[in-house]
Amino acid sequence: EGRVKFDNVRFGYEANRPILKGVSFLVPGGKTLAIVGPSGAGKSTIARLLFRFYDVTGGSISIDGQDIGRVQQRTLRENIGIVPQDTVLFNDTIGYNIAYGREGATPEEVEAAARGAAIHDFVAAQPDDYKTQVGERGLKLSGGEKQRVAIARTLLKDPPILILDEATSALDSRTEAEIQRTLRDVSAQRTVIVIAHRLSTIVDADEIVVLNDGRVAERGNHASLLRQN
Ligand code: ADP
Ligand code: ADP
Repeated sequence: EGRVKFDNVRFGYEANRPILKGVSFLVPGGKTLAIVGPSGAGKSTIARLLFRFYDVTGGSISIDGQDIGRVQQRTLRENIGIVPQDTVLFNDTIGYNIAYGREGATPEEVEAAARGAAIHDFVAAQPDDYKTQVGERGLKLSGGEKQRVAIARTLLKDPPILILDEATSALDSRTEAEIQRTLRDVSAQRTVIVIAHRLSTIVDADEIVVLNDGRVAERGNHASLLRQN
C-alpha cells in the first residue's frame, strides 16, 4: 500500500557534517506528506535516502514495515516514481521518453499515460504522434510540457509511491497551476511526498513538515501552519 516511515533518521554526506539530525515522519498509504523548508535544509536528501542512493547513519526508513536497508535498490526504483524540478528529455521521440524505464509498453499504454498527463495540448492524441522527435532536432518543449512528459512516464510506471521534488517550482504561475491540477489527479490513490518551498502549492497535503537545519521544526496542515507563520 506504500506506507513510508522515517524513524529518527540521521545522515550526513561527510563525517562530522550532519545533514539530517533525527528526522521522523509517517506517510500512511495513499496519503500526501509535504516537506517544506529553506534551501539546503535536507529536503532532496530525504528523497535520495528513500531511493537508497545513500544509507542512513542512524535511525531507519521503512516501507510497509520493511526496513529499506533490506530491499534491493532495483525494487525501490520500481516502487517509487519521481517527478524532478527540471526534467531532462532524451533527444528521441515523445513515446520513447514516456516509455523510458518501461520497455515493452504497448502504444495503447503509452497513449493512456499521455492522456493522463494531458499531453494532447501539444501533441495530437494519435499514437503515431508519439513518434514526434523532441530536443535539439525536433519539437522544442516548454518547461511545463517537459513536466507533462515526466508525469506521463510516472503514470506508465504506476508506482505506489510518488515523490514530487519541486516539480512545478521552475514554471510560471499559470503553467504551475495547470500542472498542479494534473498532479492532483496523479496523486490520488498514491502515497506522495511533495517537496516544496511555497505553502501555496501544497494546500491539499494531509500533513506538512517544516524542515530546518536537518530537523522537523514544525508539523501541521496548511491552515494550522498559515496561522502560525
Ligand atoms: P534541500 O533539498 O533542502 O535544498 P539538500 O538535501 O539538497 O537540501 O541538501 C542539504 C545539504 O546537503 C546542503 O547543505 C547541501 O549542500 C548538502 N549536500 C547535498 N548533496 C550533497 C553531496 N552529494 N555531498 C555533500 N553535500 C551535499
Ligand atoms: P536540489 O536541492 O535542487 O536537488 P542538488 O541536490 O543538486 O539540488 O544540490 C543541492 C545542494 O547540494 C547545492 O547547494 C549543491 O551545491 C550541493 N551539492 C550537490 N552535490 C554536492 C557534492 N557532491 N558535494 C557538495 N555539495 C554538493
